[in-house]
Amino acid sequence: MKRPFRFIAAILFLAALAGCSSTRADRDVFFQVSTLNALAGGVYDGETTFTELKRHGDFGIGTFNALDGEMVALDGEFYQIKSDGLAYDVPGIAKTPFSEVTFFEADKTVPLDKPMDMKQLQEYLDTLMPTVNIFYAVRVDGLFDYVKMRSVPSQQKPYMPLSEAVKGQSVFEMRDIKGTVAGFRCPAYAEGFNLPGYHMHFITDGRNRGGHLLDFRIKRGTAELDHAARFSVSLPGDKAFYSAGLTSEGDQGLEKAEK
Ligand SMILES: [Zn+2]
Repeated sequence: MKRPFRFIAAILFLAALAGCSSTRADRDVFFQVSTLNALAGGVYDGETTFTELKRHGDFGIGTFNALDGEMVALDGEFYQIKSDGLAYDVPGIAKTPFSEVTFFEADKTVPLDKPMDMKQLQEYLDTLMPTVNIFYAVRVDGLFDYVKMRSVPSQQKPYMPLSEAVKGQSVFEMRDIKGTVAGFRCPAYAEGFNLPGYHMHFITDGRNRGGHLLDFRIKRGTAELDHAARFSVSLPGDKAFYSAGLTSEGDQGLEKAEK
């Protein structure tokens, strides 16, 4: 009696161990819903709920169905920055046409003790990376002299491409503000399905204002990098995505719309 019991216990133990290790590995995945060129082409409605998205990460950026604002996720809390610049809680039943998330666990943490603008900070972060050929999640907490952000108003059907939709964007500037930058750095070969280089969103310390970052100047703070060597994309199964003309022409509009 004893022997088979021990054997079963050992199997259960090994199964539990395997379960644990796969859970741990999944936390290092850069998970993306749809592709950025589909969003650029006006595919603004997705089927993925935020309840589902939260299973893939506690940190990230993205947008909402009908392109209704900018999404920021930090520490498992998801926020919707609408075109009034204010941050709202996201109901689990809300859906996203494009988002990128991961479980944020810093592989590298560095203090930022001299002022830097957005471009300088990004160049500095590049020097901290062992390679530019993988994905990184980037989190920066600090005191900012200046922050310039945008958000886009909810769109009506038939949807215009992103380069047209962003013409109606609201731009916000804030000064002397504490807050957090959440974003990703994608490798050059991500062109088309994502944006090569950095894509950053911002939210204030009070978690009540924010947006897609256009520029900033940080006084001091802390930067954290999370290396992601695995990449997972959930492609939409709807007609809008299947019939979208996803060409490299759209990518040029993308660069214009996001940077
Ligand atoms: Zn954005």
